[in-house]
Amino acid sequence: MTAHASHPELTKNQALVFGSLSDAGGPLTAYAILDLLRENGFRAPLQVYRALDKLVEYGMVHRLESLNAFVACSHKGCSGHGTAAFAICEKCGDVREFTPDEAISLLRNWTESRGFQLSRTTIELRGTCKNCSVAN
Ligand SMILES: [Zn+2]
Ligand SMILES: [Zn+2]
Repeated sequence: MTAHASHPELTKNQALVFGSLSDAGGPLTAYAILDLLRENGFRAPLQVYRALDKLVEYGMVHRLESLNAFVACSHKGCSGHGTAAFAICEKCGDVREFTPDEAISLLRNWTESRGFQLSRTTIELRGTCKNCSVAN
């Protein structure tokens, strides 16, 4: 499990949820996490959602709205700028996280000029990854 020194000590449940997402290496729904953690005493989706809420808040996990799933952050810097971008392949389900530096500064210009208090941005790009395009 990746240790994030800047983050608060995780509870047992938070650590288990983060561990299952890290091991998966890709997005999981809350119900898939629940199934993985039944042996560890998880019984209700609410236990998973509570842990996920905190992990998202800490910047260690991102929520992917379009997949209704969660993914462990693969960048150290995400909690700093609060912006993550994902390229999601609709054929093989591959999900790549990247940091869209130029988009971040454009969005920051807009939010600052409007006085909008931005808490978090997640950009989801849907399409076909290179491997799947080549296979066609
Ligand atoms: Zn991230
Ligand atoms: Zn693909």
